[in-house]
Amino acid sequence: TERTLVLIKPDAVRRGLIGEILSRYERKGLTAVSAELRTATAEVLDQHYAEHVEKGFYPELREFMMTGPLLALVLEGDSAIPVVRALNGATDGRKAEPGTIRGDWSLSNQANLVHGSDSAESAVREIAIWFG
Ligand code: ATP
Repeated sequence: TERTLVLIKPDAVRRGLIGEILSRYERKGLTAVSAELRTATAEVLDQHYAEHVEKGFYPELREFMMTGPLLALVLEGDSAIPVVRALNGATDGRKAEPGTIRGDWSLSNQANLVHGSDSAESAVREIAIWFG
């Protein structure tokens, strides 16, 4: 069993999709072990997106991530990290497969509804950033 950090991003919260998205993870068999609805600060986002801070798209991404509350979640289960990423789908909602969260509900590369840790190391790092 392992733990992963999920963000249900501000676009999903605004669109009233928290329940639909969380239920996909839960029906798959993952369990929520921590959850907090909060508005991110620039400082937390710069830590979370450390690998992207120098990229051209980052300033706009950071603004977007502060446009409203997001739900930070820790999910636990067998292979939770790859399973969440499979449920999320490809980064760009226009390219994500139907049946995935992004494939069903996003048409954007930025407003793509969710984040999931991409490795065990990222999960440990990101859980510490959001939940201390
Ligand atoms: P996440 O890490 O959020 O689960 P990911 O691993 O599929 O998604 P990354 O390449 O790590 O995607 O990018 C992190 C986030 O940055 C994406 O979820 C998206 O919101 C944003 N992003 C990535 N590439 C672009 C881009 N070219 N233009 C705008 N936003 C982007």
